[in-house]
Amino acid sequence: MKKLVNYPREHPHFYDWMSKTFKQKLDEYFKNEDLKTLLCALLGYVGAGPERTSAASALTASISYYLFGRYYPRGGAQHFANSLKNAIEKSGGRVLVNHRVDKILVENGEVRGVVAGDRVLRSSVVVANVNAKTALLELVGEEYLDRDYAEYIRSLKMSPSAFMVFLGVDMDLTNYPTLIKNLDEGYGVVINSNADPALAPSGMASITIITLANYYDYPPRGTKEYLKIKKETADALIRKAEKVIPNLSKHIVVRDAAAPKTFERYTSMPEGALYSFDQSIETRRPYFKTPIKGLYLVGASTFPDGEVEAAVISGIICANDICRWRTKRM
Ligand SMILES: Cc1cc2nc3c(=O)[nH]c(=O)nc-3n(C[C@H](O)[C@H](O)[C@H](O)COP(=O)(O)OP(=O)(O)OC[C@H]3O[C@@H](n4cnc5c(N)ncnc54)[C@H](O)[C@@H]3O)c2cc1C
Repeated sequence: MKKLVNYPREHPHFYDWMSKTFKQKLDEYFKNEDLKTLLCALLGYVGAGPERTSAASALTASISYYLFGRYYPRGGAQHFANSLKNAIEKSGGRVLVNHRVDKILVENGEVRGVVAGDRVLRSSVVVANVNAKTALLELVGEEYLDRDYAEYIRSLKMSPSAFMVFLGVDMDLTNYPTLIKNLDEGYGVVINSNADPALAPSGMASITIITLANYYDYPPRGTKEYLKIKKETADALIRKAEKVIPNLSKHIVVRDAAAPKTFERYTSMPEGALYSFDQSIETRRPYFKTPIKGLYLVGASTFPDGEVEAAVISGIICANDICRWRTKRM
């Protein structure tokens, strides 16, 4: 506690970056507006503008990419999940897939387990990786929460979502960079097979085109209007990408698209949000310990932020706390 209280005095430089916006820090260091705009080029990875992003988040979630690069898990994101599953099983744990949790059981302010379909799994510790709003307001239920806490969780705003087009093309794009960003038109093209050649047969390429999107711009999923908007948005993005990859549309072998409601459907993330809660300086993400004894939060909706690496960090903090910080010294 003493360390926490003394933190701003002992680390004044970092504390300053934590408590100011990225725009304030850019204005302190630079005069040239074009240079400032350029330094904001990767803020899409935070999902908020420079006047709303904490300077520390801008450093870790965008400026660090210039210094250290970004990484693509070989075999795709599913391979990363599979590696975690293997690690759990190697340590004697079990992973149950296709078990959607319908309820988190609470009695006398303490967690008692979860209900998944017709199975009741009892435990004095539950770590919820699903979004905090879903975990607390839906799976636990507001009747088990203090009114102010429930109101705080309800008030948290979601981050933006995205629209993505996934293409398999019969073109050799190995001479292209892996990531192409068009800041003027607000989209990015990722040639995944340049990062991981196993993703496409030789002479072909796997591509995703991505742009930020608003969940509420889309009608209910499955309606004619929804399918029409989804197709038109995908066509428009492919046309834009043709400016950097000429004749792209003539070489499509496989095509799929995902709107914010697709991300919501597959991950249960409200509004299909990219990074769970809004990542601006005013958002206070919920603490990983909840007021319900034994119920913990991990993942993008808690400290430190959204994105895969931050979600992993939150899991490490939570696991260490449950094990009372008895970690092995390597
Ligand atoms: C289009 C897109 C692109 C992105 N690109 C990047 C990127 O390039 N780099 C990066 O670092 N991050 C990226 N992100 C963000 C990143 O994917 C998330 O921040 C991260 O996956 C969050 O991890 P998580 O474990 O908190 O949640 P998730 O990865 O969403 O995992 C939650 C899991 O819980 C399961 N679940 C939900 N409800 C229940 C329930 N009731 N019962 C049981 N299981 C349930 C879900 O099925 C899911 O498997 C991107 C996100 C999107 C949508």
